Amino acid sequence: MTAASGNQHRPFRPGERVLLIDSKARRYMITLAEGGSFSTHAGTIPHTDLIGRDEGILLRSSHGARLRAVRPTLSDFILKMPRGAQVIYPKDIGPILVLADIFPGARLLEAGVGSGALSMALLRAVGAEGSVVGYELREDFAAKALKNVESFLGPDQPYRVEIRDVYEGIGPEHFPDGALDRIVLDLPEPWRVVKHATEALRPGGILLSYLPTIGQVARLREELDGSPFGLAETLEVLQRTWHVEGQSVRPDHRMVAHTGFLTAARLLDPDLPEVPPGPGVSPGNAA
Ligand code: SAH
Repeated sequence: MTAASGNQHRPFRPGERVLLIDSKARRYMITLAEGGSFSTHAGTIPHTDLIGRDEGILLRSSHGARLRAVRPTLSDFILKMPRGAQVIYPKDIGPILVLADIFPGARLLEAGVGSGALSMALLRAVGAEGSVVGYELREDFAAKALKNVESFLGPDQPYRVEIRDVYEGIGPEHFPDGALDRIVLDLPEPWRVVKHATEALRPGGILLSYLPTIGQVARLREELDGSPFGLAETLEVLQRTWHVEGQSVRPDHRMVAHTGFLTAARLLDPDLPEVPPGPGVSPGNAA
């Protein structure tokens, strides 16, 4: 099979979101509509230039400016979507998915939900068989998150947002037949959730917390130390982009210096008895 015959052509349709990128890498997100048009200082492009065309097409504005048209990725969407609360950036979202080991079918609790940036990545990772229950204090943020999620992922996601304070507990209705697999926190005092997480997670389950300052991390680690959680780790992700143009290949002058620290720990049941060495394993060679 040739590469070309494997290509699934999916031309742009009305109602779809498109990202336009100009020669200076400025990005504009638009939603295609019959009769619509996109305008900047660099001129106008009627949506009819896009509708029915393939992703990746290069367009010319009325003033001759060149714009590339692609469908936005999750990361593009997060950086452009309407926000209430500060979002977690793509730089940290990828590592969160791995550190918290979010897998297809996982049952998750997320608090707080904010604008729903992290929710979208979590939903994609748990898939249709999984579920994400979000706790959020503010009704306006919850509404925004639901809207953003539906707008990017479509309706009927296994996603529910409840207006409640996770510091007051995790409703047992969220872990009726066993327990939650993962709890992901982006809020100021995650140590106040540790006790509730101990009751809600299954053994081996993972608690992950995103925190902007190291004092908060220290407080959380202290709380985890005095709890059934173990195997705790804390890290930060530094992302340095590079300028690559002809012979000029070097790190970019600017980078995002700091976003937050990631801390993850696993629930280990302290009441589990220690397993003695099995028959045939003598203390001498039990490596
Ligand atoms: N991770 C989100 C942003 C979350 S911002 C994103 O990527 O879009 C933090 C959110 O936590 C805020 O919306 C705040 O209202 C909420 N919050 C703070 N304390 C909370 C609590 N105790 N229970 C539930 N939500 C809480």
